[in-house]
Amino acid sequence: MLYNSIRTTSLSLLLTSCLLFLGSSVSAQNMTDGTTHRRDECGTHVTEDDIANAELAISRLKLPRQASVREYTFDVHFTIVAANMTERAGWVPNSQIEAQMKMLNERYAGTGVSWRHAGITRVLSRYWHDSIEAGLQQTNDMHSLFRTGKSTTMNVYTVGFTDASLNGYSTLPVNYARNPIEDGVVIFFATLPGGLSLERQGGTLIHEAGHWLGLRHTFQGGCTGVGDGVDDTPPQREEHYGCPIGADTCPGGGPDPIYNFMDYTSEECRTEFTPGQISLMQKSIAAFRSNSNR
Ligand SMILES: [Zn+2]
Repeated sequence: MLYNSIRTTSLSLLLTSCLLFLGSSVSAQNMTDGTTHRRDECGTHVTEDDIANAELAISRLKLPRQASVREYTFDVHFTIVAANMTERAGWVPNSQIEAQMKMLNERYAGTGVSWRHAGITRVLSRYWHDSIEAGLQQTNDMHSLFRTGKSTTMNVYTVGFTDASLNGYSTLPVNYARNPIEDGVVIFFATLPGGLSLERQGGTLIHEAGHWLGLRHTFQGGCTGVGDGVDDTPPQREEHYGCPIGADTCPGGGPDPIYNFMDYTSEECRTEFTPGQISLMQKSIAAFRSNSNR
């Protein structure tokens, strides 16, 4: 019956229709619960090993101390995973994807990074829409079937995170070589510009793309240690929400970087990457996402 209801010959739709049957034990849930209460902002985890491995690879590049900002263009491929063909179930309109691309390029202006819209794959699977989380078998299955491109293609999957209540997460460039299939960004579909989220209107992908290019949270490590590995973002004890002007949670270094895209502050509050972050992005690209390591 399901096959009869889908008037398409798309391989993607047919493949995931099969999986939809397999996953039919998952009950229907309200896809928009997350629009009325705070979800976890970001599920990206950066370990001490990730930091050490990235710093080692970057140190081997032997880059000049004052390298100029190089221009890079990355392809962006969207895989839209919806429970059915309505926006509330994740079937986001192309206009939101186009608005997200425009916003990516606006927010990354001056970083040397620009983004080219490479394509959209639409997938119907309530199971994946609800249950995707980092490291699960179904997540690996989804990436295996739909990932496209090389280390220079940012694969963006939009899902419901119904079980996880997340806004997004990303893999890190340092882990591309070890696990290229899982490389990419997974975001809550409603966070696209013009989408149903009350918290985010495009900012989630701006933030997650920062991780995809090697940036850490501004509050990484709290007040001690190497933190986010960037000199011009003052240390910050923990994440901020809203826009707490004047917040200063660590001794020395100056006020917390609440305006930074790599904090959790509000959509209106987050407006900048620092020169130090731009330098770290450039080094991460040279080490892990340039044409020489495709
Ligand atoms: Zn994050």
